[in-house]
Amino acid sequence: MRTPIVAGNWKMNKTIAEARELVSAMRDELSRLAADGRIEIVLCPPFIAVPEVSARVQGTPIRVGAQNMHWETKGAFTGEVAAPMLNEVCEYVIIGHSERRQYFGETDESVNKKIKTALAHHLKPIVCVGEKLAQNEAGQTDAFVGGQVRAAFQGIARDDARSIVIAYEPIWAIGTGKAASGAGANAVIGLTIRGALADLYDEATAQAVRVQYGGSVTPKNAAEFFTQPEIDGALVGGASLVAADFVAICKAAAK
Ligand code: PEP
Repeated sequence: MRTPIVAGNWKMNKTIAEARELVSAMRDELSRLAADGRIEIVLCPPFIAVPEVSARVQGTPIRVGAQNMHWETKGAFTGEVAAPMLNEVCEYVIIGHSERRQYFGETDESVNKKIKTALAHHLKPIVCVGEKLAQNEAGQTDAFVGGQVRAAFQGIARDDARSIVIAYEPIWAIGTGKAASGAGANAVIGLTIRGALADLYDEATAQAVRVQYGGSVTPKNAAEFFTQPEIDGALVGGASLVAADFVAICKAAAK
């Protein structure tokens, strides 16, 4: 049994004061939902608000993550944040979000290096993969997403692989209001993503890894994804910035 995991990616939104407000508005309900271990809930604010959010959820089952990190652990990398720094303030880290791949030169190679560093420093990676619209329309989803998974997990031991969360986020569905269909996302996750993991490791490992769906998840469509057998929760962008919406999505995941 895989425990569903719902993560809120706040992207570059919320000052520290606003982050405090958002957490206060949903902390009690999210704590109740995560209390019995039926689902895991992770909040991923911008770096600067991570310590504040972590302090606010201390003593609750709510987890906190960062949205990125560097693969080096310290040194002359102005503006970057390293795994040992995150380790003091959060448990998860999103790696390879499509916005980082698109705007900040993130590659399959850097994603792989970051995953290895995160694991070495006991951070739990949420690794994003997903195809562009043109690739989807050209029937290249399987080859492209399968390739991203193979590249991301290159050189990662089986036991470590099991602790990694994958977020399947078709790029055309992120922030567009055009979510994938539940059945479509289920097929890519079950066949392409778990298929690649089974090739890399074995069927048991492929079945053990948690794979979220991400892309325009809302309270309205959440159940369509969470009732699919291959989908283990969601990575939520826009809707995670609205307390009532994020709580409603987590409720749907806990059902
Ligand atoms: C995301 O930020 O990863 C995301 C899926 O965004 P949205 O839910 O807004 O589409």
